[in-house]
Amino acid sequence: MTLLKDCKLILKNKKVIIIGAGIAGLTAAMKLSTSGVNVEVYEQHEKPGGKIRYFKSKAGPIDAGPTVLTMHKVFEDLFNSCGHNINENLDFIKEEIIARHWWRDGSTLDLYSSFEKNFEEIKKFAGHKSALEFEKFNKFSESLFDFFKDPIIMSPKPKIFPLFLNSFVYLKLLKELLIKNKNLYNYLNESFSDYRLKQLFSRYSTYVGGSPFMSPSILSLIWNVECRGVWRVKGGMYNLAKEIEAIAKKSNAQFFYKSKVKKILMKNNKIEGIELDNSRVIHSNTVIFNGDPKALLDGLVGKDVKKAVSTKNVQKRSLSAYVWSFSAKTKGLKLRHHNVLFNKNYKNEFEDIKKGEIPKDPTLYICAQGNNNDPYPKENVLGRFEIIINGSPISLNKTYNKQKEYTKCKEITFSILESMGLKIDLKPSEEMLTTPKEFDLMFPGSQGSLYGRTPHGITSTFMRPMNRNKIQGLLLVGGGTHPGAGVPMACLSGRHAAEMILKDLSLI
Ligand SMILES: Cc1cc2nc3c(=O)[nH]c(=O)nc-3n(C[C@H](O)[C@H](O)[C@H](O)COP(=O)(O)OP(=O)(O)OC[C@H]3O[C@@H](n4cnc5c(N)ncnc54)[C@H](O)[C@@H]3O)c2cc1C
Repeated sequence: MTLLKDCKLILKNKKVIIIGAGIAGLTAAMKLSTSGVNVEVYEQHEKPGGKIRYFKSKAGPIDAGPTVLTMHKVFEDLFNSCGHNINENLDFIKEEIIARHWWRDGSTLDLYSSFEKNFEEIKKFAGHKSALEFEKFNKFSESLFDFFKDPIIMSPKPKIFPLFLNSFVYLKLLKELLIKNKNLYNYLNESFSDYRLKQLFSRYSTYVGGSPFMSPSILSLIWNVECRGVWRVKGGMYNLAKEIEAIAKKSNAQFFYKSKVKKILMKNNKIEGIELDNSRVIHSNTVIFNGDPKALLDGLVGKDVKKAVSTKNVQKRSLSAYVWSFSAKTKGLKLRHHNVLFNKNYKNEFEDIKKGEIPKDPTLYICAQGNNNDPYPKENVLGRFEIIINGSPISLNKTYNKQKEYTKCKEITFSILESMGLKIDLKPSEEMLTTPKEFDLMFPGSQGSLYGRTPHGITSTFMRPMNRNKIQGLLLVGGGTHPGAGVPMACLSGRHAAEMILKDLSLI
């Protein structure tokens, strides 16, 4: 009885401040509040979600950030662990076709969440030899995921020891990765004879912000994550953020929007609280930071916490993007939810990005979100679209002119669409485009990078900041921290941080 009373008292007095209501901050808020901890979330924008954002349109909300999630089980487990059923208020739709791919020569390829189906499709598309090459690559990707899943991806800290133990089983795999140490594109260049398949499977490194020509071949595992299933959230990805916020609120978490944190306060090398832009001070000895970790190093939340990360944790930067979000009527191409329109010369695209330029001939990713009545776009019916072009993070000494970037990006994007046969009934306006500079403004310290530190280099996985750091009481979460970018990864980092706090309180 006394123990229970003591426990309740600890929880009543324990307050955790969360800076940022991105998916990781929201996850931590839900996990902590449903365990009885007092949670206060301070978010500079007017709503939750961070990069999970939407644009309003005549056809309904358009996803303007992530459009699907993988690793559905991560979310299912999280909700269960908080005493909730993920399907109670959310509808997840597993995409049968994970992506439809298009090339300039008019060829197309659909890929599915089924090896057998993909084998047959690739055989039809590029012949039996290519299908066999795919089979080999698919196995490689699967064993990579199996090898790294528990010790790295799902673990709060990368664990090296299980990797060594397992390495006897996976000797061949490690030889491919470490001894040959090729970049992803070179690996695929040797694995596939058809150029289009080299492009297709190397593009997955861009999902974590890397150029295929500079990312390690270990990122081949992303294909395996993808082919295990991609899910849309009915009504848009923002509904996921809203639902997590709603559960946290029901458990008394408090959310303060339009509340930018100016400083994380410290005393005697310990966290003391935060100071908002309006100079209001809130005390707590535990603060979770969901912003880009580079903001800490840049001193954007005060000098005291700069040492929480080091340069190697946050530099160099991952890719940014030019993102169009609009509603329009289209015809000409039968789009699915995920569509990739490849260019002729993949290398040139990333050479342009390396120079800090908008690629002259980019690959276009189109998410066709249909409308409220129909999940897929129909010819001449108003539908919702998000188009993403990979871009470079902003260079801090370059002048910015939105009008110029918009004009160039519009010309490039819409002339490619037209040349590929997609007719769009739209006058794209400047507000429909989000540029790397605008991402930088939305996510301070990021330089417009959408995935934190670059995944380039074989050791990049070990370079991201962990939840815990040199400063007692400060925990870092989000796509810029371990285990990395993407909605499920950021969610995992939020859950790990919350569980560390609960462990400290002896609550788990
Ligand atoms: C265009 C685009 C498409 C993407 N597509 C996919 C996809 O299909 N699938 C997928 O899994 N992932 C995708 N991603 C990546 C995914 O969106 C991110 O990895 C993930 O959402 C990042 O979450 P986070 O927890 O790091 O928080 P973020 O979304 O980065 O949010 C951080 C929050 O912290 C707030 N904040 C920062 N500093 C302060 C401060 N000082 N005071 C108050 N608040 C502060 C910010 O305002 C922000 O709301 C995409 C990203 C983009 C941009």
